[in-house]
Amino acid sequence: MRIVLLGAPGSGKGTQSQKLVDKYHIPQISTGNLLRAAVTGGSPLGKQAKGFMEAGQLVPDHIVLGMIEERLSHKDVRKGFILDGFPRNIPQAQALDELLDKVHQPLDATILIDVDLDVLIQRITGRRTCLSCGQVYNIYTSPSRLDDRCDKCGGDLHHRMDDNEETIGNRLRIYEAQTTPLINYYRQQGKLKNIQGVGEIDDIFTKLITVLDRLTNIKPEKQREESTKMSTAKKKTATKKAAPKKKAAATKKKAVATKKKAAVTKKKAAAKKKTATKKKAAVKKKTATKKKAAAKKK
Ligand SMILES: [Zn+2]
Repeated sequence: MRIVLLGAPGSGKGTQSQKLVDKYHIPQISTGNLLRAAVTGGSPLGKQAKGFMEAGQLVPDHIVLGMIEERLSHKDVRKGFILDGFPRNIPQAQALDELLDKVHQPLDATILIDVDLDVLIQRITGRRTCLSCGQVYNIYTSPSRLDDRCDKCGGDLHHRMDDNEETIGNRLRIYEAQTTPLINYYRQQGKLKNIQGVGEIDDIFTKLITVLDRLTNIKPEKQREESTKMSTAKKKTATKKAAPKKKAAATKKKAVATKKKAAVTKKKAAAKKKTATKKKAAVKKKTATKKKAAAKKK
């Protein structure tokens, strides 16, 4: 299962991605992590990337793609991968498609975890974190009962400075401007799957795996067994259901044949009758003529 995950900040993309990793045992490939690892590890691509970063420039796409290609040669991506943080624009998406075609690992789908802007802003601006125990609250959706104190430990609740509405608004606008073209790009390919990212985390995840299981054959072992059992059971039921149908069809055929036979018999009978009538008529005529002739002679 090879997918790209798209989702705004606050969409829950990270959480869902982690759950997918756990369920399907496929790695999440985050280009941010790849870059950091390559730079730290000092690989040839990492050294190139470091040069750009130190010069305060963006790392060019071909270097990032080189890192993705290298990552795709590892054993653990045989069953698939979840690509996160890449692509961010159309040229990157096209380059990624080319790369994946080249290594015969095309994308199965791009999943968009879709959440309304208002909900995203509430989620992020309403977030409060306990300074003592790290418990997370949301003043809109899951507030602390003690108002500005932690229910668990009584600690102070903290509102992150970059969680204010203006900053969030900007981040979301940038995200939207970047992602809308990508959404269209994958929609045109017929690969876009839209998941509503509102509600309980587990319910969203259920929707997600329903979509993915429909897409691919890769399933966790237990589920595969269950689905095999189910399909066998379904087949049996289908056969059972089909049997009476077959019988009914046969009976119908017979009935049609009988009707046909009857029709033929009728026709035959009618023909016989006709012939008989004709013969009779002919005989009558003959007799009458003979009688007439006899009378004339007399
Ligand atoms: Zn606390």
